[in-house]
Amino acid sequence: MADLKLTNVEKTYGGSVNVLNDINLDVKKGELIVFVGPSGCGKSTLLRMIAGLESISSGVLEIDGEEVNNVPPAQRGIAMVFQSYALYPHMTVRDNMSFALQLAKKPQVEIDAAITKAAKILQLDEYLDRLPKALSGGQRQRVAIGRSIVRDPKVYLFDEPLSNLDAGLRVATRIEIAQLKESMPDSTMIYVTHDQVEAMTLASRIVVLANKGIAQVGAPLELYERPENEFVAQFIGSPAMNLLPGKITGTGAQTKIALDGGGTAVSAVPTTEADMGLKVNVGVRPEDFVPTEGDAIFKGKVNFSEALGEVTLLYFEAQGDNTAVIGKLPGIQTGARGTSMALTADPAKVQVFHNERSLYYR
Ligand code: ADP
Ligand code: MG
Repeated sequence: MADLKLTNVEKTYGGSVNVLNDINLDVKKGELIVFVGPSGCGKSTLLRMIAGLESISSGVLEIDGEEVNNVPPAQRGIAMVFQSYALYPHMTVRDNMSFALQLAKKPQVEIDAAITKAAKILQLDEYLDRLPKALSGGQRQRVAIGRSIVRDPKVYLFDEPLSNLDAGLRVATRIEIAQLKESMPDSTMIYVTHDQVEAMTLASRIVVLANKGIAQVGAPLELYERPENEFVAQFIGSPAMNLLPGKITGTGAQTKIALDGGGTAVSAVPTTEADMGLKVNVGVRPEDFVPTEGDAIFKGKVNFSEALGEVTLLYFEAQGDNTAVIGKLPGIQTGARGTSMALTADPAKVQVFHNERSLYYR
């Protein structure tokens, strides 16, 4: 149950391979922070630096106001759960969970109480005397989490704990982790994933890592509705937000953009006269497109469609060297393929980026 603070934290491997720069982050007690970002962007590195398993090249890491840069992992009050749960196969669930406490020579009554409490939170009561091989993947991952709960850490760190589970089990275990967090409202958790659904559903705040730094920090829906930059706009949401190049032709409380493809967009982002003629990218999420008979942001022929049941994805023919536009319309749109469509969007949902940065953040 702790606050955690990173100030100008950097990581350079072997004195020359710089992987993280200028990381500044304040984690409040009770938060569930999710680090998300493309593979290789430094999520595990950052987590391991917090755990003390990796040195901090420069900057300061504080836990509850104390610098812990040089405090060994075991004394940081941190518990880490990895992707591979690495349980001892010859030990029962109870022994796997109590192992660290036994090693630390805690009194047996204390150990028993900790196991009972963790087993209850994780609904493992019935399985305490089983061996790991007699458990499902999800139950094994729960035992791994139980191992950290019994140590009553200040901060829980999770590194892609669900990646080894199959799709169905991932969803079930994700919900269990969300409920686990609710049952421990004061515990601070940092959770690494490359799965944006996990990030959106679990996080109190998401930290998007990219290009060796933090691309944006915010509540899940803040990132979805108000991405600060094109990277976050396209990383959060699936399929990714469409970006259409154009030029500002009207300013004021709302902004009008003439798109290079011939369409017109109106965005709720305010601009001033100085912005007239500014080259921008208009961002529209596939799910925010609506068919129109009036002014269209985009007109094109549907090249291909995928009916997913609740929605249909429409892939439009690419125009010039732009990437193909994707629309996501509700329901089953039979017969859309091969037809031409005109699409617009609610101005409140139309994003505008200049030099990759959202005009909402000036
Ligand atoms: P992620 O967890 O986001 O996929 P990592 O933190 O594992 O990324 O890795 C970030 C970058 O640091 C990668 O480019 C990786 O190759 C590099 N890296 C990780 N560990 C080491 C190491 N021990 N020595 C050198 N480079 C490393
Ligand atoms: Mg990793």
